[in-house]
Amino acid sequence: PPLRVAILGLGSYGTRVAEAMKDCKRARLTGIVSGTPSKITAWQQKYGIPEKNCYNYQNFDSIKDNPDIDVVYVITPNSLHKDFSIRAAKAGKHVICEKPMAINAKEGQEMVAACKKANVKLLVGYRMHFEPKTLEIIRMRKDGELGKIMFFQGLSGFVAGDPNQWRLNKALAGGGAMMDIGIYSINGARYMVGEEPVWVTAQETKTNPEKFKPGVDETIQFQMGFPSGAVASCLSTYNMNNLDRFFLNGSKGYAELQPATGYGPIKGKTNKGELTQPHMTHQTVQMDEMAGIILDGKQPIVPVDGEEGVRDLKIIDAIYEAVKTGKKVVLK
Ligand code: NAD
Repeated sequence: PPLRVAILGLGSYGTRVAEAMKDCKRARLTGIVSGTPSKITAWQQKYGIPEKNCYNYQNFDSIKDNPDIDVVYVITPNSLHKDFSIRAAKAGKHVICEKPMAINAKEGQEMVAACKKANVKLLVGYRMHFEPKTLEIIRMRKDGELGKIMFFQGLSGFVAGDPNQWRLNKALAGGGAMMDIGIYSINGARYMVGEEPVWVTAQETKTNPEKFKPGVDETIQFQMGFPSGAVASCLSTYNMNNLDRFFLNGSKGYAELQPATGYGPIKGKTNKGELTQPHMTHQTVQMDEMAGIILDGKQPIVPVDGEEGVRDLKIIDAIYEAVKTGKKVVLK
């Protein structure tokens, strides 16, 4: 039987996931949770979802009595991830939560604890962890084909248009570009280098304080140091386009991806030539792989569990602290 998924938060990314799941072999959309009645009706018609599998934010907890839903996929603005994920866990459902899993490491840890207590799995929507060209570079690095890893560069950004969107609202977003797009460079540095950083430094630039209010970062440059001595240099911004690039350099070779984290096709090459792994819709692959993780206990090549989400949030916390203090922050 397939993994039966309820999507909570029927916005633009929720819609993308729902569309991608049409092609899944092992995951199926069987339920929805929304605060907007008109969206419920539209989604019911579009995806053939029975009335008994539709919930609003008030009656959502009664999903615990629904045997036709295995997992709730939380796809709301960032600051709402924690409470919805914990409610789903308390209802005995597995949880998939979008990135960033929460707005700081402490909240992320509360989610991990709640899911552990409820004996349900918690996964974070890190779709790049299943992307074939990304995985090929990780394989090359693990097999020593790039030699000793010395440097990673991550560039992550786009122009955030509408000044009234939730992404520029500190209460809903938990921050600015770093929470939304900079996290790709943090996460990418970790899976590309294959180590956990031991320190960060960071510098913020704000050219438009009107649009990017206090607590909403526009542009942050940051650096990370790894135990082996490898370093990473990254840019996170809501004020520039054409920034989606990873570059990994080792003593024997290099790998680059550009675009590195967009919806694809991802393009990449190494010192050995172009990467030719075929493009597959990221969210289709992700949901089939997550079905394997939840239903069969399959281990992904790059983790997507709650602890993995918390690791990124600890680094984000440290980057914000480094921006504030102007000092190098040591990570434990
Ligand atoms: P969106 O604004 O399009 O959708 C958000 C949804 O949440 C809307 O349907 C909205 O009605 C609902 N919502 C519920 N409570 C709300 C409230 N109090 N205020 C505002 N909206 C509320 O946003 P999105 O682009 O779909 O992003 C949703 C989440 O998905 C974010 O956490 C984002 O980081 C993540 N995301 C991930 C990827 C990825 O590639 N993994 C891509 C895009 C977005």
